[in-house]
Amino acid sequence: VNSDLILSVNFVLVNRSQQRYIVKDILGQGTFGQVVKCQVSETDSHVAVKVIKNQDAYTQQALVEVHILGLLNSKFDPDDNNHIVRMLDYFVYQHHLCITFEMLGSNLYELIRMNSFKGLPLSIIQLFSKQILRALVVMKEAGIIHCDLKPENILISTSLNPAEIKIIDFGSACFEHRTVYSYIQSRYYRSPEVLLGYPYTTAIDMWSFGCIVAELFLGLPLFPGASEFDLLKRMTATLGLQPPDHILNVARNTNKFFKRIGHIEDTGDAGASIGCKSPYQILTEEEYEARERKKPVMGKQYFNFVTLEDIVKNYPHRKNLPDEEIAKENSTRLALIDFLKGLVEFDPVKRWSPLQAVRHPFVTGEPFTSPYRPLLETPRIPVSQTVMVDYKPGGGRLV
Ligand code: ADP
Ligand code: MG
Repeated sequence: VNSDLILSVNFVLVNRSQQRYIVKDILGQGTFGQVVKCQVSETDSHVAVKVIKNQDAYTQQALVEVHILGLLNSKFDPDDNNHIVRMLDYFVYQHHLCITFEMLGSNLYELIRMNSFKGLPLSIIQLFSKQILRALVVMKEAGIIHCDLKPENILISTSLNPAEIKIIDFGSACFEHRTVYSYIQSRYYRSPEVLLGYPYTTAIDMWSFGCIVAELFLGLPLFPGASEFDLLKRMTATLGLQPPDHILNVARNTNKFFKRIGHIEDTGDAGASIGCKSPYQILTEEEYEARERKKPVMGKQYFNFVTLEDIVKNYPHRKNLPDEEIAKENSTRLALIDFLKGLVEFDPVKRWSPLQAVRHPFVTGEPFTSPYRPLLETPRIPVSQTVMVDYKPGGGRLV
């Protein structure tokens, strides 16, 4: 079986209505297949076409992408207001599933690289955060988890508005009530619940989002874990905490990374601090090696500081920044630290939801004065299930 189409410039793909797409450029290559830039024949418009390998597993996964993105586009974002890539068409050509998308520009990793890995101005990060959060609000509403949020999967628009970004690559996405895979998310952006083997929700995308925001500022990944053990070590060091006991008590992989130093007691939330009453202690590298019978791969230190607060506060200022700008920048950095703390929060229940995060002063631009306390999120009750109850004034009782 020939499972690869040889795609080169001027190759022509034809859809169900005999519309022709002429390959102009190769945009990306992966295990799934290729992404090419095509001119829509007889028009001036260009589209990006993802050509999937002629193999069942890849085709099945790509059909999930078609289904989820189709649903998001049509039902949850019909007017294209929420920074999610538009899917334009899909068809089978010579046994290959092809998906066409609106043509977008560079991804955020490329943008960081073009900026010599020095980080982007905070004003741009605020703008991007607002847009990504809009997409995450809509995805949560739809009960959809992206599962692979990272700078490479956020693209800058080529349209008139150069500061617009869109989320792409729903090839790993799933419905919240149908989480099947345990090995998901790219490592640097992997949430503690996925790492530990604990039931996951749309909150895993919020963790990844926090990592992305930090990386846009630092120019380098916040948690560049060279292995899962290294990743967990970095998280606990940078946050000055370990995952809460109530998660470690039930997570499938706790024993891979932690040893027991006491009995499980009901320590409530207090057990979350390192060395503070928790019956769990993270292994040393030597203990890990003895237990797993392999050396953990540990990466090098990227920053001169360990805690999130110190890393952000001490990050070098851009050259030639006037004094009054430095003062303003420093106060925005405080807002950024507070913002990140709500996102890279170990407990998925406490971690801010997209709607909570979007009201943070870092995003709204309001002055930041004290730690943000989001409103509790009221569970959404579908309209059809809303029960109307008569309230009898005076009696003070619901009847
Ligand atoms: P993968 O599953 O391989 O990550 P993606 O959907 O992320 O597949 O596409 C791979 C790459 O192709 C992207 O990182 C990006 O560089 C490019 N690409 C994908 N979609 C588009 C698009 N709509 N416009 C421009 N480039 C795109
Ligand atoms: Mg991708």
